[in-house]
Amino acid sequence: MFGRTQEDAVGEDIGIIIPERLAVSHADLFSHAFLRSDMHPFELAGVRANGQEFPAELSLAPWGTTLPHVGFAAIIRDISKRIALKRQRESAKNFLDTVVRNLPAMLFVKDAETREYIWINRAGEQVIGLPADKIIGRTDRELFRDYGAAYEQRDTDAIASPDDVRFESEFVRDDGEVMHLRTTRTMIDGPDQPRQYILGISEDVTATRLAESKVRRLAHYDTLTGVLNRSSFNEKLRRLVEREAKFALLSVDLDRFKAVNDQLGHTGGDTVLAAVADRLVDAVGDAGWIARVGGDEFVAVLTCERLRECAQEIAHAITISLAKRFTTDKGVAHLGASVGIVLSPEDGSSASELRENVDLALYRAKQQGKGNACFFNSEIEAAADDRRKLEKDLRAAIKAGDITLAYQPVVMANTGKITSLEALARWTAPVRGQVPPDIFIPLAEECGLIDQLGEQLLRMACIYASTLPDSICVAVNLSPLQFLPGNLVETVREAVEIAGIRPDRLQVEVTEGLVIRDVDRTFYQLAELRELGVKILMDDFGVGYSSLSYFQRFPFDKVKLDKSFIEAIEVSAAAQGIVQAVIGLGKALDMGIVAEGVETPEQRDILVEAGCTHLQGYLFGCAMTPEEIRRLLTDPINTDLRTGSLFSFYGNIS
Ligand code: C2E
Ligand code: CA
Ligand code: CA
Repeated sequence: MFGRTQEDAVGEDIGIIIPERLAVSHADLFSHAFLRSDMHPFELAGVRANGQEFPAELSLAPWGTTLPHVGFAAIIRDISKRIALKRQRESAKNFLDTVVRNLPAMLFVKDAETREYIWINRAGEQVIGLPADKIIGRTDRELFRDYGAAYEQRDTDAIASPDDVRFESEFVRDDGEVMHLRTTRTMIDGPDQPRQYILGISEDVTATRLAESKVRRLAHYDTLTGVLNRSSFNEKLRRLVEREAKFALLSVDLDRFKAVNDQLGHTGGDTVLAAVADRLVDAVGDAGWIARVGGDEFVAVLTCERLRECAQEIAHAITISLAKRFTTDKGVAHLGASVGIVLSPEDGSSASELRENVDLALYRAKQQGKGNACFFNSEIEAAADDRRKLEKDLRAAIKAGDITLAYQPVVMANTGKITSLEALARWTAPVRGQVPPDIFIPLAEECGLIDQLGEQLLRMACIYASTLPDSICVAVNLSPLQFLPGNLVETVREAVEIAGIRPDRLQVEVTEGLVIRDVDRTFYQLAELRELGVKILMDDFGVGYSSLSYFQRFPFDKVKLDKSFIEAIEVSAAAQGIVQAVIGLGKALDMGIVAEGVETPEQRDILVEAGCTHLQGYLFGCAMTPEEIRRLLTDPINTDLRTGSLFSFYGNIS
């Protein structure tokens, strides 16, 4: 052990096995050692012959009784290995302690009998909001006045259960913050008895639960406005109907929202929508709830007493509230709303029937002017029935090719000669007789028939043009919806080819309404049509959504001044001013200006004077059958054109 032989050691001072630095203190120790008989083994450092120190355990026993032969016997053990092992164990324990202390989950140990905490880690301190020394030695009842008993009950359950017990609960911290904890309790054996301790591990699942509830919210609520979304509305409505509940369904449609969106931009529009939802929630109060079911469409479901009166009052409150201005940081907006109302169960036996009828009521409300509310009633129902019948008849008429075209002449302003014919759709329905295009064209648009009808009429007009003198063009009205499918250009090309006419004999009339839908796509198709050689006319200019910038984007061949201006031109300075301005614009941009709806010689004179290039109206002829037009063209002496005041105005037009 010391690296010395017996011969080397015997007779030497004990100092040779003790490190020099400890010589003094050890000498002291040894000199007193023999006086004591009860010494326990103790540890000290030894030194080997080569100078290497090592830990040793020393047991001393006095030896001999009388001086000078008094000494001691020593048993020395090299305990390097034992010390190393101990150190290793200690560091392993420290390491584990550190791990457990710093585990992100809360860990605690309670005594199963007293229920006192006997250990808790750092996460536990944080969750409870107290340092360990304020927790250890105390029970849940002492620590948590309101919930302590409940926590203890869970411990009791765990003690009674052969398995781990898991429990998720809300935990209200000292600072009032609510956490979701998932705690697993395991019984562990102690030194004194089995199942002496309760080991608890609590995970903080607050973030997970919050995320889950957010996902749930997202699924049910509209993110922009915070009210219910479309799918939860459908679901709730379905359940109400199933239960045969009494309720009122209000459909709220915002007037002018598109214009507001254009004016304020999308973020401004969003702000307005959120404010609309707030006002609706206010208006409804606790009488029901609100959902957003489309871009600018909201519904309210009311479940109050005296349903009809309640619905009436709330609908009124809604129209008043939404008519007030909206102030956003992008500007001020003025909306207004129309409301349709149905009552369940009397106005419909299914959710879809109720929705259909509330739409009809809303439609009627809008017809009565903006800011109105309207209940569904038998009159609306009858009108809807009628419309359904009309739709059926129209479908059949289109299929059978019963829709025909009448042609209205357009004359040159300076010569009175017919330059073109506007093709206008005509329908004589089976029972009801003549249906005006103002009725059946929008109907065809609404029920998806406009493409088929539009194509039919386009071909018909081109074929008719092929039978007319080469100098006369045919103008066909296009619905904005015909630009949507994307095959319009192809359809036009085919119609022209089949008829074998020069493409520039076909004019298409488009309204401003078309341009606001999808500006780029529309202008692209217009350019393609123009490429074919077809002439493009802007119809009904000045009413609706006029923007002069369209002329910058696309060079129209002609602009048709809406007939409302012509009608007013004799009495209204404003109408005259607008007509003048448009004519000026036409000259500047090299566009022809057509005045439509010219009925009197006075109107004609003013318009010719002002500089219109073309005129159209009953003064020169109404829409006529193809045969009538043919007669007119071949026998100019007896035509309306001649007998009309045109003749005297132009003198001899032959
Ligand atoms: P629009 O394109 O503005 O057609 C002119 C309308 O004014 C025609 O009514 C025509 O008969 C009428 N009109 C012509 N001269 C006068 C006049 O001097 N005074 C008055 N007060 N009215 C006059 P119509 O035929 O009832 O057509 C109404 C609307 O229906 C048309 O307005 C057009 O928007 C639409 N429409 C007609 N045919 C078609 C078609 O084939 N396709 C499409 N997409 N729309 C059509
Ligand atoms: Ca037209
Ligand atoms: Ca027109």
